Amino acid sequence: MTSAPDFVRTIRGVVGDEPFVGLHIPDITAAEKQKVYECLDSTFVSSVGSFVGDFERGIAEFTGAGYGIAVSNGTSALQVALELAGVSAGDDVIVPTLSFIATANAVSHAGAQPYFVDSDEQSLGMSVEAVRQVLRDSRSTPDGLVNSATGRRIGAIVPMHTLGHPMQIVELVELADSYGVPVVEDAAESLGSRVGSRHTGTFGTMGILSFNGNKIITTGGGGMILTDDEEIARRARHLTTTAKQVHRWEFEHDEIAYNFRMPNLNAALGLAQLERLPDFLVAKRRLAERYRQAFESFDDAVFLAEPTGTQSNYWLCAVRTRGGRERRDALLEATNDAGLQCRPFWNLLHLQTPYRNLPHARTPVAEALHDSVICIPSSPALAVA
Ligand SMILES: *Cc1c(COP(=O)(O)O)cnc(C)c1O
Repeated sequence: MTSAPDFVRTIRGVVGDEPFVGLHIPDITAAEKQKVYECLDSTFVSSVGSFVGDFERGIAEFTGAGYGIAVSNGTSALQVALELAGVSAGDDVIVPTLSFIATANAVSHAGAQPYFVDSDEQSLGMSVEAVRQVLRDSRSTPDGLVNSATGRRIGAIVPMHTLGHPMQIVELVELADSYGVPVVEDAAESLGSRVGSRHTGTFGTMGILSFNGNKIITTGGGGMILTDDEEIARRARHLTTTAKQVHRWEFEHDEIAYNFRMPNLNAALGLAQLERLPDFLVAKRRLAERYRQAFESFDDAVFLAEPTGTQSNYWLCAVRTRGGRERRDALLEATNDAGLQCRPFWNLLHLQTPYRNLPHARTPVAEALHDSVICIPSSPALAVA
């Protein structure tokens, strides 16, 4: 078995000998500062200002989505997307148990309840077979499809592209379509990731992105709803901007809505980051390739490569270890002691306090992944040319 010092040495061989190497440090240069200053000078620092629209159009162009609606964070993007997908109070939404808690929280904020399913060993995303089983066992009613495990209507399915690796979204959308259940993609981690040439987040009825400080590009905090549907885009913009009717001076609002609009100041930062995204993606592929080679000789610590037929943004590079949670924790301890900020996966959602009493599907693969995967330092600056 590979020793912990060997594991540390291998990562050090790729990232160099800075005393502390973070998991994912945002890369901010003079270009970002200049854009933010430009925004400050304009005085349009809040939700009105030209940078928000420019950022939305930039992301739509980059991803190939018809429309982008910029919001305050990825969680609020997902909440609103679910509501616009028709999810209503009392529904179930099918969610992978292996995800960041925001995926489940957005479902709860939309008034629904997450129904957790297992993951796929290769893609790390939601298992299409697990979803197929839930849908096959469900009952068709005049209100829609009812989950036989809970007696609740299945309002939507939310796949997530884990660490930037695309899940089997084509197969999932085909399955969901055959049952008439909408798919909302949690693409918070996968800006720049594609299946074939098509960008993640553009396969479902809607997709969402996050621009939190630890994501591949950041706006400080921020998110975006992606859709090709003009009417959904219009509704999303209305619902996230207090449902104010357009008028030169009147304050008339036609429904109870949200103040979720991304501030211009954040969009300014995002615009400068977006220009650098192609370079980040190149750097990340280079870093991933270096790790892949470095771990090639290990048989008990395998670098997790992008699934066949996809292009991952390698948001977080990761290795799969053997020997269960005890060994995983020994390696986490050794790397963190050595100044290498390494992290396990999130604790499985169906075991976390707010969700532990909910019915859920079997989750053996997610459990095994949780006990064996370690995310390793992945900042783009580690592999600039
Ligand atoms: C980051 C993230 C989100 C959204 O996070 P925000 O901090 O609200 O922008 C949602 N889902 C996943 C899987 C994430 O990693």
